[in-house]
Amino acid sequence: MVDFETPVLKQYPIIPLIQPGVMAHIKPYVAKPEIQEKIGFPGELVANWQEVAIKKMGELVSKSRALQVFLDSCVKCGACTDKCHYFLGTADPKNMPVARQDLFRDVYRRYFTFAGKYFPKLVGAKEMDKEMLDDWYSYFHQCSQCRRCTVYCPFGIDTAEISMAAREILDSIGVGQKYCNEIIGKAQTIGNNLGLPEPALLDTLEGLEEDIEEETGVVVRLPLDQKNADILLVTPSADFFAEPHVDGLIGYAKVFHAAGLSWTLSSHASEAANFGMFIGSYENMQKLAMRIRDAALELGVKRIVFGECGHAWRVAYNFLNTLAGPFDFLDPNYPMPQHICEVTYDLIQRNLLKLDKSVNDDKVITFHDSCNIARGSRMGDMVGGQFIIPREIIKACCNHFYDMADDTIKEATFCCGGGGGLLTDDLLELRVKGALPRMEALKQVVDDYGVTHMVAICAICKSQFSKILPHYGFEMDQVITLHQLVGDALVLDEGTSNSDSN
Ligand code: SF4
Ligand code: SF4
Repeated sequence: MVDFETPVLKQYPIIPLIQPGVMAHIKPYVAKPEIQEKIGFPGELVANWQEVAIKKMGELVSKSRALQVFLDSCVKCGACTDKCHYFLGTADPKNMPVARQDLFRDVYRRYFTFAGKYFPKLVGAKEMDKEMLDDWYSYFHQCSQCRRCTVYCPFGIDTAEISMAAREILDSIGVGQKYCNEIIGKAQTIGNNLGLPEPALLDTLEGLEEDIEEETGVVVRLPLDQKNADILLVTPSADFFAEPHVDGLIGYAKVFHAAGLSWTLSSHASEAANFGMFIGSYENMQKLAMRIRDAALELGVKRIVFGECGHAWRVAYNFLNTLAGPFDFLDPNYPMPQHICEVTYDLIQRNLLKLDKSVNDDKVITFHDSCNIARGSRMGDMVGGQFIIPREIIKACCNHFYDMADDTIKEATFCCGGGGGLLTDDLLELRVKGALPRMEALKQVVDDYGVTHMVAICAICKSQFSKILPHYGFEMDQVITLHQLVGDALVLDEGTSNSDSN
């Protein structure tokens, strides 16, 4: 039941008057002991939790020079205060990035700086007490780790890193978040976030093959565990069944088919998402990443391609080699890892895909840059490739494209409101309110250009928008995947199917 009010869309964004504590009641369900223990954390709040928390903080600060610099260098200039979508949507001052950081910084000062140890009041240093613990659990789960504030901070202070460290400390004392930690456990044991076992996966893929054949008259394979295929596709498990994601998976399959590329999915690594990043846990991130390496070796593939998933691409692009490398057994002629958009863009550039743009003439498109792709990684071998490549693919597949306002796209993009491990119904109020700036920008292009659909290349963004759009008077199916546009515009010949080439 919805017991909050959806913010009213304004023509121009307005910085709200602060309402202290208005979001203090928002916190995700705490993970049960079995969920916590399964991924290596204490089942519940440990007796000496303050001592454990401070020890863990010391470890993290000594391991990460960046974290220490972020904690030491804020000059309270205020440039970040109005840059967070959660502050703009909720008006809670603790959702200002600097205030969120200060929840961590005040404790750090108390225990790890000279002034904080001896003159705590003078420097605003605070104890790690129960009140602070409650604030941490609440407000570090009101940060989607989107890094928008970092772009505007003159020192590049990264609130996402502080938020990850805080969640790691919370887990270390036995207070983990149910949504993320349950998913990590499932992905580690079953292979995907949904807990979808191999027979169900196979069944789903066969069903999709039938759908494609019925729609196009062409046999397009979606192979599973196909040994010696050239490409292992690792994609978010939402792609296997949920709308609009599944239309993207169909699009990837059509692209591979049209280009005559041999590919496979893996039942062992049937998940691109890596929620280990959201909770700042290197060990859990590594376990998930190792499944991809194991699957690539087992299947004997030459390339690894990632489907449309924002944070999965960030983990893959930045950390996969460190977490699970070296990948010297793959073909060095291809980027490792490679994004599905890079594959499609390259094929378009080389005129290897026949596209009929007019098929998408019923749509006027805008594009939502996903935070983890826009600010957490890159794409292709050109500066700004993560902004250029998706837009060029869209323009190759449809005739009507309009960007949203400049200060809401590319590096300045606003989070969908559900990233960073917050895509759970226990945080619905936060998700709806946090989506406000993106919804205002969308409304503007709907009014000005008649935009009908917003394209996204992140599974979390797509799920979040499907749920949130109706709260703001839009239709849930106004969010679509980039590879749906591609799949619909592709003119398929019988060509070389994967069943022939494998
Ligand atoms: S990282 Fe994003 S969600 Fe977190 S404080 Fe900064 S702007 Fe807000
Ligand atoms: S912009 Fe950076 S330095 Fe300024 S208040 Fe925010 S975090 Fe501190």
